[in-house]
Amino acid sequence: MNHSVVVTGGAGFLGSHLCDRLVDRGDDVVCVDNLFTGSKDNIRHLLSNDRFEFKRHDITFPLYLELDRIFNLACPASPIHYQHDPVQTTKTSVHGAINVLGLAKRVGARILQASTSEVYGDPVIHPQTEDYWGNVNPIGIRSCYDEGKRCAETLFFDYHRQHKVDIKVVRIFNTYGPRMHPNDGRVVSNFIVQAIKGEDITIFGDGLQTRSFCYVDDLIEAMLRMMETETGTTGPINIGNPGEYTMLELAETVLRLSGSNSRLVKRPLPPDDPKQRQPNISMARSMLGWEPTISLEDGLAPTIDYFKRLLKV
Ligand code: NAD
Ligand code: UDP
Ligand code: UDP
Repeated sequence: MNHSVVVTGGAGFLGSHLCDRLVDRGDDVVCVDNLFTGSKDNIRHLLSNDRFEFKRHDITFPLYLELDRIFNLACPASPIHYQHDPVQTTKTSVHGAINVLGLAKRVGARILQASTSEVYGDPVIHPQTEDYWGNVNPIGIRSCYDEGKRCAETLFFDYHRQHKVDIKVVRIFNTYGPRMHPNDGRVVSNFIVQAIKGEDITIFGDGLQTRSFCYVDDLIEAMLRMMETETGTTGPINIGNPGEYTMLELAETVLRLSGSNSRLVKRPLPPDDPKQRQPNISMARSMLGWEPTISLEDGLAPTIDYFKRLLKV
């Protein structure tokens, strides 16, 4: 069955890949985005497609559309971007969630929230399971994002309990791939851009903190599967790649794959930077029959190619 779908944040990195998959499978897609961190370049190839429509709109304001599926991805995701205007970041997560949930309630649509591993903060449980409540600083520089996303989860579950809205919540762990913003300050884009330009690779802190990196195609597949689970299967559910790397290991891998001679240089660790992060994806394996299929090396190669094309190096 074809669906009428709204993707908020659809001109961003993950959202544009999601729009591609939805249009490919025959859905009618409305991409709602204020282009704060997203770009028309990410969706330009879709603009002439009859099944795709772009609406420039800020989700902190109400939106009236007719549809049966909503993917709520609108929110800047990288620390540089979400700390640029932290009040707007919280508004996007909280007011934005209220508006899209109000929309879902009015039209009886199913709605999926792109939540984040940041709800676990600097976790003391490792790897993180969905029943872990997290270790989040409520007043730090990451809080606009972390607490905004936590409050959005609260709103999703209260609209579900109080108004019977059909919700799905996925907690996304670090994801990378083509169409990442070259200046978003995230570690994968920073290291690749530095490596291919021959600039120093900036290791924050001692570089022994860990992250787990999922390739975008794997991630989108999990989101699509979660959306099609039966009503009442709400999550929250972790999606990510459990392979865990230190930032030093990531830097070495990027240097090797890009054939770069860049040097590694140490820079101060930003405040509240989580020391380790790795998803436990047992729930995704059993409920979605899903697990990542693309290794870090296999995913970095097309990502490096994308940045080379983008930066013409
Ligand atoms: P992105 O910055 O590329 O995409 C976010 C999109 O939302 C952009 O196109 C931006 O213009 C749009 N946007 C921001 N504020 C808006 C507003 N008020 N109204 C309308 N549109 C708005 O980031 P991404 O990596 O594609 O992330 C997409 C979603 O996935 C985000 O909600 C993010 O929190 C979540 N997520 C991403 C990752 C990751 O590693 N990429 C990890 C965890 C969670
Ligand atoms: N809303 C929206 N589109 C809709 C329906 C509602 O943007 O199609 C917004 C509406 O402006 C409201 C919010 O969603 O601020 C929450 O809606 P809800 O019905 O839960 O609350 P109420 O309108 O009763 O305050
Ligand atoms: N990081 C780094 N060098 C950079 C950018 C980031 O060492 O140029 C580190 C950062 O301190 C963090 C990790 O890489 O420990 C992941 O950072 P990112 O901003 O990509 O994601 P998040 O911290 O939100 O997981």
